[in-house]
Amino acid sequence: MRRPILVANRLPVTIGVDPDTGQQTLTHSVGGLVTGLRPLHESSGGLWVGYPGAEPDEDVRRQLTEHNLVPVELDPQDYEDYYEGYSNDAIWPLFHYFTEFGSFVPEQFEAYRRVNQRFADVICDLAEPGDAVWVHDYHLMLLPRMLRDRGLDVRIGFFLHIPFPADETFRILPQRVEILRGLLGADLISMHTYDYTYNYLRSVRRILGIESQAGTVRMRDHNVRVEAHPLGIDTAEFQEKAYSQNAERFLTQLKRTIGDRQVILGVDRLDYTKGLLLKLQAFERLLERSPRWAERVLFMQLAVPTRAGIDTYQDLKSEVERRVSEINGIYGSPLLSPINYLYQTVTQEELCALYRVADVCFVSPVRDGLNLVAKEYVVCRDDGGGALVISEFAGAVSELGEALRVNPWDIEGTADQLERALEMSLGERHERMMPMHSRVIQNDVHRWVRDFMSSLEATETEQTGSPPMLESSILAESLASDFRTADTSLVMLDYDGSLREFVDRYEDAVPTKEILGILHEYGQRDDVKIFINSGRDHQTLGEWFDDCPIDLIAEHGAWMKGAGEKEWRLLGVLDTSWKSDVLGLLEDYVNRTPGSRIEEKETALAWHYRQTEETLGNWQALELVSVLENSLRGQPVQVLHGAKVVEIRQQGLTKARAYDLVIDRFGPFDFELATGDDRTDEDLFVHVGTNVHTVKIGSGNSAAKVAVASPRSLREMLAALLRAKAG
Ligand code: UDP
Repeated sequence: MRRPILVANRLPVTIGVDPDTGQQTLTHSVGGLVTGLRPLHESSGGLWVGYPGAEPDEDVRRQLTEHNLVPVELDPQDYEDYYEGYSNDAIWPLFHYFTEFGSFVPEQFEAYRRVNQRFADVICDLAEPGDAVWVHDYHLMLLPRMLRDRGLDVRIGFFLHIPFPADETFRILPQRVEILRGLLGADLISMHTYDYTYNYLRSVRRILGIESQAGTVRMRDHNVRVEAHPLGIDTAEFQEKAYSQNAERFLTQLKRTIGDRQVILGVDRLDYTKGLLLKLQAFERLLERSPRWAERVLFMQLAVPTRAGIDTYQDLKSEVERRVSEINGIYGSPLLSPINYLYQTVTQEELCALYRVADVCFVSPVRDGLNLVAKEYVVCRDDGGGALVISEFAGAVSELGEALRVNPWDIEGTADQLERALEMSLGERHERMMPMHSRVIQNDVHRWVRDFMSSLEATETEQTGSPPMLESSILAESLASDFRTADTSLVMLDYDGSLREFVDRYEDAVPTKEILGILHEYGQRDDVKIFINSGRDHQTLGEWFDDCPIDLIAEHGAWMKGAGEKEWRLLGVLDTSWKSDVLGLLEDYVNRTPGSRIEEKETALAWHYRQTEETLGNWQALELVSVLENSLRGQPVQVLHGAKVVEIRQQGLTKARAYDLVIDRFGPFDFELATGDDRTDEDLFVHVGTNVHTVKIGSGNSAAKVAVASPRSLREMLAALLRAKAG
């Protein structure tokens, strides 16, 4: 196994001061993440890199080293601006859709960048070839790219513990490009749910214009896998604590206090994302509608202190406390209060006892990356009792399908579900709880670690990278002997961007004398079958190469015409049912985008924007692609975003399929060469496999074996190859 280097904002320890001796002390921190990663850290001999929270003295520094903990020492002001500032005042609110709380201060982003850079420095000093660097959470989103740019021979994984918002919200972030690119430095990016990975990939496409295929983003220097791996909990520890002596003792005391009332339990950090005010409103509505519950139910709400010094949090605390007293004032009596509100933390044993005693666990964040409380409750209910009411905006909901779902903004609906949970029969509780219980046990935190690490390992084999860029003469030389000795050869050439340079107006890219000359010479040979395999419409190709003794494939594999033949053959069944709707949409984009135009082909429509002002063109194109993909879902078409063109074409007619038909009809060949520059050519390169000489024109990631710099290099190469054949 690779040596893991775990990287998080904080080390999994806390530096304190002994009040008697004044000496620094070191204690283990608690929390889901630390519990999950500790076994990996300890058993693997790996390192944990993070901020220590205070400047360690000699002795603590020695202890850190002994425990394989590497402190990243930071300037306190930088830490403040990076942590309280950019991380918690920009990213946290925005990623939880609290745009009104987001403050985007450029100096704080600079501190965020500097701190990420400091982490990169520290990791560079200690990383060894083959290590797996696993970066955690929203504090360190620039780090993956920084590490990659240092050229380290390591695997880079990233896990986001909070939601990734929809692109409409994400693009508010002034530093959106840097953040997206920062993450794309990783080999594997993982988040709790498919929704979040979908949101991320959509932002990558809308903002950076980079497409993904089946969860993989192909970058110039590597591939990035984007996957969902919901965090699990340490189920064994919770089960043990739930039945510990301390828990039993506390449970007995609790039961005495509660009497025969039913308990609704809430456990939340006092953060605005947890929806505490809405929660109180829903509970109040329940009492208002059915006052009988006031004496029969106790709502215990544990509010865990967090960021207490910040105004927004203080205001929230005051407001929550005011509402609690109001509700207790209205519905309580000197003997009974319907709400027991506790602003404090409790021990894990006490928490487990609370879970065991709660008839209903009420988890209703307005936004939550996952929500561990819901899973912890389910694990502690191995008796099959208890009912979980959970917000549809908590990531954990996707694994807890048997729970009662609520939209916390729908007060009436939430009150309904609370009542339903309170009245639920034992049988139904059992039926709902047990499948969730088994699922949470099965997908525990250790499995989460294993799954992530094996996905990270698997990415290695998928790297394609950029093929080597060769001089035309060197490429010709390397192909010459195979080509010379071949009795039969196939040469399949893409046209625009490969054989011919792009021009402003697509109809002006007519073949030059040089191109026609090369094609003529190839076409005249009996031992070479040469094809132009282009995305162009068949009429234009037919006119341009009318006198040329070569075969043609047009519209990305839809049509074929042999040398000298007059008629084109359609290589499938024409389906134009989708065209009129798409045409209407494209016309709308032409109206809104000066300089753009529509090209009509029989099997496709293309929207060209080479002559549009660049920023506007790119923006409109990205928007158009996403509109098309949504509106054409299920239709027999494919949307392609090429070089300054968005093309919509009939599905199933591809360059790769046309290649197969050529082989069936004219093959086999002793020598095969295929060239191209864009997505449709990539599909062909992947399809033809390794026996074919594949050449990409231009730089960038490709499945081709080699690359040449430009159409001119390709023409030079083709001419040189021909000379070699001629002798
Ligand atoms: N928790 C705690 N002390 C308490 C109450 C709760 O440590 O007094 C823990 C709880 O067990 C859970 C975590 O705090 O693991 C809360 O995690 P969750 O995902 O629900 O919300 P977060 O606070 O991470 O947003």
